[in-house]
Amino acid sequence: MKKMWKVVAVVAVVALMASCLVACSGKDDSKLIMATNAEFPPFEYVTEKGLLGEFDGIDVAIAMEVASKMGKQLEISNMVFDSIIPSVVSGKADIGVAGMTVKPERLEQVDFSDTYWVAMQTIVVPENNTDITNVDALVGKTVGVVTGYTGDMAVSEVEGIKVNRYQKGADAIVDLKNGKVDAVVIDAPTAENFIKRNPELKGVSDDEFFGKEEYAIAVQKGNDDLLKAINATLAELKESGRLDEIAAEVAERLANE
Ligand code: GLN
Repeated sequence: MKKMWKVVAVVAVVALMASCLVACSGKDDSKLIMATNAEFPPFEYVTEKGLLGEFDGIDVAIAMEVASKMGKQLEISNMVFDSIIPSVVSGKADIGVAGMTVKPERLEQVDFSDTYWVAMQTIVVPENNTDITNVDALVGKTVGVVTGYTGDMAVSEVEGIKVNRYQKGADAIVDLKNGKVDAVVIDAPTAENFIKRNPELKGVSDDEFFGKEEYAIAVQKGNDDLLKAINATLAELKESGRLDEIAAEVAERLANE
């Protein structure tokens, strides 16, 4: 009988330790936490009825797939764009998925998965504008960008452009329509989405200046197991054609909003 109690006690202590592992470290292994800035349709945005609660978009669908393949539940942590990398670095989030372009300065802080999307920057201007035809023409003008985006980095390098920074692309577009800025520089997929909704705007490209941007998923440096799992799912989504399907489905849902 004594032995029996010993076993019960050991089981109880082990169970307690296991639950402490979860609670005390603040990390729940059944969850995959995605840091994002849900202001970037079609990659991530807030809507009435999204794929996961109020969240929808291509990145949300990809991350749900990654989580489910790992037997985990995806949880989305919505924040300003500039907080995404710090939250991955600190381990508060497992993955940063935000149409995020691989850049050398970001690679110093996090590791990136394989690329899942290639995009360019677009200069959004009023439809009737004729003088803004490239980046050079932005010198002497006021340009709206989102803080910390690659568009911000690119435009900030050009001397003579006055840069107005916003937390949301949508707010920059409002100021463009009000005439408070002359142009907005933002990733092409998002620009297209804004232009579709605002026929008084148009897009101008300067691919030579901006170059192509490759989107990838950020993880904590050295988290190779997670990176492998992500890359396996990305490869599968690309090869099966499912990634294109996801993009088409999101585009349709956005068009019906
Ligand atoms: N691709 C851009 C960047 O990495 C914008 C990303 C975003 O808007 N979420 O900065």
